[in-house]
Amino acid sequence: IAARIRDFPTTVFTEFSALAQKHQAVNLGQGFPDFDGPEEIREAAVRAVRGGVNQYAVSSGAVVLKEAVAEHALRFYGQKVDPGSEVIVTNGATEALFDVTLGLVDPGDEVIVFEPYYDSYVANVTMAGGVPRYVLLRPPDADHARWWYDPAELEAQFTSKTKFILLNTPHNPTGKVFDRAELEHIASLCIRHDVLAVADEVYEHITFEPARHVRLATIPGMAERTITISSGGKSFSFTGWKVGWAIGTPALCSAVQKTHQFVTFAVAGPMQHAIAEALRLPDAYFIELAQSYRKKRDLLVEMLDTVGLRPIAPDGAYFVMAQIGHLGFPDDFEFCRYLTRDIGVAAIPPTAFYAEHHRVHGSHLARFAFCKRDETLLSAREKLLARL
Ligand code: PMP
Ligand code: GLN
Repeated sequence: IAARIRDFPTTVFTEFSALAQKHQAVNLGQGFPDFDGPEEIREAAVRAVRGGVNQYAVSSGAVVLKEAVAEHALRFYGQKVDPGSEVIVTNGATEALFDVTLGLVDPGDEVIVFEPYYDSYVANVTMAGGVPRYVLLRPPDADHARWWYDPAELEAQFTSKTKFILLNTPHNPTGKVFDRAELEHIASLCIRHDVLAVADEVYEHITFEPARHVRLATIPGMAERTITISSGGKSFSFTGWKVGWAIGTPALCSAVQKTHQFVTFAVAGPMQHAIAEALRLPDAYFIELAQSYRKKRDLLVEMLDTVGLRPIAPDGAYFVMAQIGHLGFPDDFEFCRYLTRDIGVAAIPPTAFYAEHHRVHGSHLARFAFCKRDETLLSAREKLLARL
């Protein structure tokens, strides 16, 4: 086995979904909806299959989808995107993250990530021979109403070797939505140090007022140095379709495309056609999505609070981090295994999203997903109330 992957664990999602299945636990672990996306979009996929969209798509993406991505960027962010040269379609956001990292990072280059981080980020940097540099997101406290970072700590991570900063907003797993002032601070550092930014905005449509998603690429000075990544998985509840994309200048897109052409070459054609239709759904669809998730968030927060798990209410994405340190478990993995096996509710141990030497910052937390039907959430509630 090659050195670059030798130390990779099996992902925490695979481990805990298997454990949930084994114990028939209600799965609030891996973040995937247990309901389907819009009926008319499923029909669009069927229509594309029946209509013969069944051979290799254009490598950089079906024209219809690249145009829809550009229209969506203009509609929601006033961002002008050339669909012909500034969009690359990938196998989910996951492939876009891999492509951009392999496409930009030389051995020894540094990448700044906020911790906790989505688990593929650091794996990608490692595969590219790069070096991750961490900035800790800290939970709300007496002086901070939301998850926060120390500006000096972020500033100290910028060096002459920094290639890009990887920002995820809305953020998995904390639910933090970076506000304009924070994004302006990050932008000023990128500009001062001539560093690129990769913005993972897959939860762009899942925010809870008054929090609002701001696209990093729309902060002055950032358009020419940002690759924005999103996908159809979260916005349309089709995580299994694996249709994602990267948006950026032609030069940045070519770094993505050069990798993409030799990793997957192209993405499933019918699903691209259907996601193009999804991106053109009326504003009402997106408003309803956020409203529906807000209710689910409130339900989960209330239930965790009732059973003594001390939830930190998120401003976006579909996860709640809950504090479990007072319960006396050795760490988050032990707690989540116990919860899955003995209580019948699966959650994700967030130390999987921290570097080895920073795990102490996550070991008193557990991540619960609320992208689930109300009846799923209520059956988790019942089990927690009866057994915890
Ligand atoms: N980034 C973040 C922050 C995510 O939470 C996820 C999905 N869990 C992804 C990327 C991957 O997205 P996709 O399913 O489109 O590959
Ligand atoms: N993004 C999802 C989560 O955070 C899972 C994705 C995966 O299973 N790789 O739960």
